[in-house]
Amino acid sequence: MKAIKFAAFAAALAVGGAATAQERFITIGTGGQTGVYFVVGQSICRLVNRGTADHNLKCTAPSTGGSIANINAIKAGDMDMGVAQSDWQYHAYNGSSQFEGDAFGDLRAVFSVHGEPFTVVARADSGIETFDDLFGKRVNVGNPGSGQRATMDVVLEAMGKSADDFALASELKPAEQSAALGDNKVDAIVYTVGHPNGSIQEATSTVDAKLVDVTGEAIDSLVNDNPYYAKATIPGGMYKGNDEDTETFGVKATFVTSASVPDDVVYTVVKAVFDNFDRFKGLHPAFANLSEEEMIADGLSAPLHPGAEMYYKERGWIE
Ligand code: GLU
Repeated sequence: MKAIKFAAFAAALAVGGAATAQERFITIGTGGQTGVYFVVGQSICRLVNRGTADHNLKCTAPSTGGSIANINAIKAGDMDMGVAQSDWQYHAYNGSSQFEGDAFGDLRAVFSVHGEPFTVVARADSGIETFDDLFGKRVNVGNPGSGQRATMDVVLEAMGKSADDFALASELKPAEQSAALGDNKVDAIVYTVGHPNGSIQEATSTVDAKLVDVTGEAIDSLVNDNPYYAKATIPGGMYKGNDEDTETFGVKATFVTSASVPDDVVYTVVKAVFDNFDRFKGLHPAFANLSEEEMIADGLSAPLHPGAEMYYKERGWIE
């Protein structure tokens, strides 16, 4: 017993002694465990951590509340990097919308990832067929700190409505909302998210549920007036009982950091992703169609972090 304890202690000392001099820990903010942000963060960390022996960076990517929570955590210095919707990257950097009077001038873009359609799923027995049918019903508008919650507020305002126009506006997290839909605690759920994903898969397989189109004048104006929104289609056939395409609008998932994170750290993370790009694309079906060209240009409104710029120049992708 004693001998084993001593051996373990000696081993811990040896590892600790070798590692403490240089090892640096970085944290990436993600989203709920059933979403795609969690996989983005986990995938980036997996690629970074394969090279820890060379660069001494150790990466973790815990589950968080989503876009707004990640941006706030990076600003506070609690996290180094994070995933955020392109609309909230824009507003945080420019101090608009929810970030009015609270601009995060040091926010830096790294790259964008997959597209995220604004997704509404309703129980078939709720009678909801259009977005307007949601009013008077029980709707999960999303947890505070999530991108979908913030974007839902923008959509409602554009329609001259508010969450008070729902019979119930619940604030469940992504990991809880599909079960709530299945248990008939809510009539519909809202999620800005890449497809296919575990949350919508769960929602559509536990109960007869339909993806709802999000179209009309208010949405057209949002898309026409704002560079970070675009029309989006969720292809039919991805989810049980949903063989038709769903028309909506969407944003891009983007990877962001702060100007105060050192260049070599951001460079190392970016290099781990793009040096192993095929492997990265294989880690989630929502990554399958990613291209380097789009990822370094689309959905980025904050300036590129110099560490990312260094790598993109090295590859000859930018001047
Ligand atoms: N778009 C969501 C958010 O900003 C997260 C989606 C996901 O986790 O994949 O909170």
